[in-house]
Amino acid sequence: MTEVMDRLADLNARYRAMSTAEIIGHAAHDAFAGRLAVVSSFGAESAVLLHLVASVDPGLPVLFLDTHKLFGETVRYRSRLQHHLGLEDVRVIGPRKRDVDARDPQGTLSMHDPDACCALRKSEPLARALAGFACWATGRKRHQTAFRKDLEILEFDGGHYKLNPLAAWTRADVAAYAAAHNLPAHPLVRQGYHSIGCMPCTSKVVDAADARSGRWAGQAKIECGIHTPKTGDKS
Ligand code: SF4
Repeated sequence: MTEVMDRLADLNARYRAMSTAEIIGHAAHDAFAGRLAVVSSFGAESAVLLHLVASVDPGLPVLFLDTHKLFGETVRYRSRLQHHLGLEDVRVIGPRKRDVDARDPQGTLSMHDPDACCALRKSEPLARALAGFACWATGRKRHQTAFRKDLEILEFDGGHYKLNPLAAWTRADVAAYAAAHNLPAHPLVRQGYHSIGCMPCTSKVVDAADARSGRWAGQAKIECGIHTPKTGDKS
């Protein structure tokens, strides 16, 4: 573990002095060459990270987690954005049919045990897809939730390194970048959805100042599990 901690300290020191595109480039072609995957929900703010990824290397693998509970708008937006940005290796991953048949045959697990549903439809498929990768990149940002306020650019979750190249970006930064590059917006944003996940667990924002207030609204749950480290604090 000391070796991992030393590497984290070294790379984070370097990454704090780099631009976002430089961070992605270093991770993709140096630190984790051939072993970096980008994980994207193709949600409300995903276009920014994906545009940066495409500008660095459009051949980087992008994993899209289709839980089979997504909005149709998200599935169509994924295809549109992939082609708009020229992403060459988008991989659609999801739960195995035999697991869904056994554990959520009625498709209602999200209503009475959302943690079990997220494990079935998100955490487990992602864990399978990340086998063979050393690091995965996310679009998480410090401003999004209290649990993310100390988010480092590079973390280790007990199994993989996790790169958060947008950690320091604000909502204004994201909006300005999207406007400057004329990025297509997720169609649900204009309807009041500012953080978009699965249909049963996403509503329009409850608190205008909190983009994620529409996720699991009214429940204690704030993360789906894929960002809960195997060791250390919840992030
Ligand atoms: S976000 Fe909701 S529907 Fe999606 S996997 Fe989690 S509990 Fe299930």
